[in-house]
Amino acid sequence: MNEHGLSAATTDHQVVLPFDNSYARLPERFFARCNPAAPAAPATVQFNRALATELGLPELGRGQVAEVFSGRQVPHDAEPIALAYAGHQFGHLVPQLGDGRAVLLGEVVGRDGVRRDVQLKGAGATPFSRAGDGRCPLGPAMREYLVSEAMYAMGVPTSRSLALVTTGERVLRETHLPGAVLTRVARGHVRVGTFEYFAVRGDVEALRVLADYVIQRHGLAQGYDENPYLELLREVVRRQADLIARWMNLGFVHGVMNTDNTTLVGETLDYGPCAFLDHYDPGARFSFVDQGGRYRYENQPAVAHWNLMRLAETLLPLIDTDQDAAIEQAQDAVGSFKALYERNRLQGMRRKLGLFREDQEDAALVEELLALLERQQVDFTRFFRRLGDIAGEPNADASVRALFTDPGDWEPWSQRWRARLQRDDGHSMERMGAMHRVNPAVIPRNHSVNAAIRAAEQHGDLQPFQQLLARVTQPFANHPDDADGARPPEPKERVLRTFCGT
Ligand code: AMP
Ligand code: MG
Repeated sequence: MNEHGLSAATTDHQVVLPFDNSYARLPERFFARCNPAAPAAPATVQFNRALATELGLPELGRGQVAEVFSGRQVPHDAEPIALAYAGHQFGHLVPQLGDGRAVLLGEVVGRDGVRRDVQLKGAGATPFSRAGDGRCPLGPAMREYLVSEAMYAMGVPTSRSLALVTTGERVLRETHLPGAVLTRVARGHVRVGTFEYFAVRGDVEALRVLADYVIQRHGLAQGYDENPYLELLREVVRRQADLIARWMNLGFVHGVMNTDNTTLVGETLDYGPCAFLDHYDPGARFSFVDQGGRYRYENQPAVAHWNLMRLAETLLPLIDTDQDAAIEQAQDAVGSFKALYERNRLQGMRRKLGLFREDQEDAALVEELLALLERQQVDFTRFFRRLGDIAGEPNADASVRALFTDPGDWEPWSQRWRARLQRDDGHSMERMGAMHRVNPAVIPRNHSVNAAIRAAEQHGDLQPFQQLLARVTQPFANHPDDADGARPPEPKERVLRTFCGT
């Protein structure tokens, strides 16, 4: 048993995982080969068996999970590499970042035929670590596990969490913290920053290889033989416009939308200081390092657009040999982001409000609601969930009304919404079911996540983590009002700042 009350791993056999690697076949300047560090006493905290099955992994014992997903045993056919990338961090270009605390073990093609990366986060220093130690404290790894799996359960494109293993070693941040390795699974780790890495080096050949790789891997730009690179850009724009609308409609604040955290495949990547809104506050920011609020909730669509422009710049030499023509086409592609995003946002909001049809008035209905929620500091998640509860009962507003400090303020909007429902299709039970399938009852609320982390860090107690994980991975089921993840924080429980554990 180690300090967390977990049993350490023992195994004699080398594990064989069905790796089929493609990134490691790219030119050597795309990555650095490096083995994960072997921690002293790895122990499994959590293993995602359902995901392992989807990936087609063999049955693994708890000890084998700890060995392999801590980096202590490099499985057969793994080709560990750290990927090279650059990125704009808080608006400033850093020509070289790269995987400083992550090692890509290899790729597997799952039962659905989709190729996915299996990456260890926190498995020690790589050639890209700069001054960092390549380690990850347990707390941020727990946060990533909870939030990424919750996002998946809510239907948001995201990287997944396959395993969480403690290392038995301490990581030094402001204090000594228990160390951990999180195994992240993603459809791809190519970021806007990967393109920037080669663009700042003037390496057009590498840009072409990278773009071809992304197009081929994700099956994009089919039928666009004339200009696949422009179509690649358009597709990335569409995916970001979808992704950010989903974030906004769930009250998700990513916290570090740097270009190195923006993937081409359109999944949410890099869960650092992320958090969900409790009460509706467009200016909400949680990240300790985001002093200026660049990545605050309401700014996320504008930042995504800005990041897409950075991607477009790198693609110019591929789009057209005539630079002016390339710029015009790229601007056109990125310029469509705003309208696409707004359409997705409104369609998502219609679903949240239980509207099956489209109506001219809907955008105004949404705007007024958001202004109302902000004014009254109403809990975003709870409001929409309860709105679903009352959608079928015209005279039963009490549970929603109770969320307002001034219930009189709720009245006019409520009447407009009821009148709008009258003009809509569908009947009430159908509506309630549909609303409860898009409005979660539980989310990984910041104070609940922090409480789970504290219990693990201070007492080696993993039960709060496991209980919260069980709830947030069933977000649309009915949960008791006071359950972890469903209950908004008391004023004294509110967590205003988050840390990414770098
Ligand atoms: P992130 O904030 O996680 O997106 O990381 C930004 C950059 O810092 C990436 O290049 C990371 O690899 C690097 N980095 C973050 N934490 C560490 C660490 N503990 N050791 C080495 N590099 C790190
Ligand atoms: Mg990152």
